[in-house]
Amino acid sequence: MRHLISGAAGFIGSHLCDRLLADGGEVVALDNLITGSRENLRHLENHPRFRFAECDVAKSVQADGKFDHVWHLASLASPKFYLMYPIETLESGSTATRNMLEVAHRDNARFLITSTSECYGDPLEHPQVETYWGNVNCVGERSCYDESKRYAEAMTMAFHRKHGVRTNIARIFNTYGPKMALNDGRVVPAFIDQALRGEALTIFGDGSQTRSFCFVSDLVDGLVRLANSEERFPVNLGNPVEMSISEFAERIQRLMGTNSPIVYKNLPSDDPKQRKPDIGKAARVLGWAPKVDLETGLGETVAYFKTKVG
Ligand code: UDP
Repeated sequence: MRHLISGAAGFIGSHLCDRLLADGGEVVALDNLITGSRENLRHLENHPRFRFAECDVAKSVQADGKFDHVWHLASLASPKFYLMYPIETLESGSTATRNMLEVAHRDNARFLITSTSECYGDPLEHPQVETYWGNVNCVGERSCYDESKRYAEAMTMAFHRKHGVRTNIARIFNTYGPKMALNDGRVVPAFIDQALRGEALTIFGDGSQTRSFCFVSDLVDGLVRLANSEERFPVNLGNPVEMSISEFAERIQRLMGTNSPIVYKNLPSDDPKQRKPDIGKAARVLGWAPKVDLETGLGETVAYFKTKVG
């Protein structure tokens, strides 16, 4: 299998490269490095079946040869970065998705897009099932991310319906693990970084909002299973163990043996009040369920961050 991956130097992209190479594939990895890092792929530099090119797939896809599988992961997935780069974020869902789909169509390749639980917005249904259409503020600050992913899903379905491209849509819920950027701003790296530096943990709002956290190896396993499935409609991938952000802060304090205090900051606008995936479809269609519990996954993540925090 010859794979083309956009966003390959990102957190999930770099783990997907490892997995596809381990499975015997050849990987052409693209990234414009706006949020991804060459460091995440450094260990693959001399791999005979791996090649990296710095390329903005929203402009054009620079990759020679024919591909069996096209993976579009390029995205500014952290609220901190999509608020900083709203136009690039919209382009990664729109033009970039179209460009990657064109490659899949040209090569008669499989195509998978990593979409998001943000498609459900601030959900009024709980837990979120794939058939729920969501509650998105289409002109709010987060709309650059939410709407670009909703557009990306629509474009993907259009290529499937119009051109018969073999497509898959993964709706990814909060995921964490080694290789997240220290300055990423999302709650897992933020709390671990703060605890390691002995700084206060920053809870946004009153901490009653809920999330659930999936370890990256489970997520990548779900992506590969989905890519090999016949499912064309979106499938949720995430861990259903839900907790409030306050509870998560306590778990971090306990796990890391820190007495870092908590400080409360303003809640970002349209921050979803609750989020938890219904993974019934992933279980039924893919035989998938996450295996790594929070203590184990956070242990690996903290060990990684310790090597990064000077
Ligand atoms: N959050 C927080 N402190 C931080 C970073 C995030 O309390 O330093 C909150 C954020 O407001 C949200 C939740 O943690 O309610 C998860 O945020 P994250 O940015 O990780 O991802 P999101 O689920 O919002 O995409």
